[in-house]
Amino acid sequence: MRFEEARLSPEVLRAVGELKYEQMTEIQELVIPRAMKGEDVIGHSATGSGKTAAFAIPILEKIDRKGGLQALVISPTRELALQITEMTEQLGKYTGVRVATLYGGVSLNPQFDAVRISQIAVGTPGRLLDHLQRRTLDLRNLKILVIDEGDRLLDMGFLPDVGRILRQCPKQRQTLLFSATVPEEVKRIINSFMVNPVYLSSVKKTEEPKIQQFYMEVDRRKKIYAIEHILMKERPPSAIIFCNTQHMVHRLAQQLQRMRFPAAGIHGGLTQAERTRVMDRFKSGDVRVLVATDVAARGLDISGISHIINYDIPNSADDYTHRIGRTARAGKTGKAYSLIDQEDRQNMSVIMQEREELIRVDAGRAAPPRIQGDYT
Ligand code: AMP
Repeated sequence: MRFEEARLSPEVLRAVGELKYEQMTEIQELVIPRAMKGEDVIGHSATGSGKTAAFAIPILEKIDRKGGLQALVISPTRELALQITEMTEQLGKYTGVRVATLYGGVSLNPQFDAVRISQIAVGTPGRLLDHLQRRTLDLRNLKILVIDEGDRLLDMGFLPDVGRILRQCPKQRQTLLFSATVPEEVKRIINSFMVNPVYLSSVKKTEEPKIQQFYMEVDRRKKIYAIEHILMKERPPSAIIFCNTQHMVHRLAQQLQRMRFPAAGIHGGLTQAERTRVMDRFKSGDVRVLVATDVAARGLDISGISHIINYDIPNSADDYTHRIGRTARAGKTGKAYSLIDQEDRQNMSVIMQEREELIRVDAGRAAPPRIQGDYT
């Protein structure tokens, strides 16, 4: 559908024209008409699908330009919040609508002023709660609430905060939720806070993340060699190895460092400063192999991870999905390896019932190999 065919205001159409958008993207074509009608919508779409305009346009069309705060967008990261604000401001250029961006790590004062004069607020969960507690964010006249990237909010451990925000919103409102996947925890939010939502998906099978999944049967004592085999064979630019305990993370990270792999461990036992330091090194590529527990990895927002290795097998199929979902983001491909010994069999058999695509591969020599050349 062309934007001119939708019943948009001249102000929004003019901005759309300036952005040189002609045809709506698939998710826009699905979401915009339903959202404009006032329905609750679950938009299932990948990053880069044009979903920001899919919710920004209905917001701009539905709010009263002279009223107070009427729309709130919850975003998992400040980067995304800033992008949403930018897009909304571009589309709302001729509407006179103002957008406040509320995220942490910066001083509150300028945000107090911005939110007072804005009709739309875009923010990250922690800072939004902060404003709500200080009563500097008034949701009494809220008409539309958008939860963007629901799956990432979940990954980053923000869903409880999102629930807290939702409980402070007026019952009479419209809710739009966007997510590239719809895991159980996100479904719970949907069931508790949305009214007869319509589910609109623009994700085609071919667009789903492509993760090749392998498993190796290997003795616990020889898992380290299986890891060495994988790392030397594949030379992942960026890998996460999951262990079930902090102790194992610590031990494995040390072993890998001794073997001269650019590895570091992250777990809940480290101080926040230590965790930040490890993460900065991982993001910069200085550390290419991150050894982590599930809990430590939950708060991480990193793209470009090529490999996931399960040193220990997770306790549930959900945890498995979570772990491997950290690779193959944004349409890229990824590989996941699971190392199974006798003790892991039971957990693995549950996972394999859900994951028929798992392929068995050989663990290499799984014996002390001679490393040849550098790990580059
Ligand atoms: P998003 O998925 O919202 O991050 O958007 C991805 C990119 O697509 C952004 O750079 C948008 O400016 C662009 N975009 C969104 N809608 C359209 C459209 N209908 N036609 C062309 N580009 C678009």
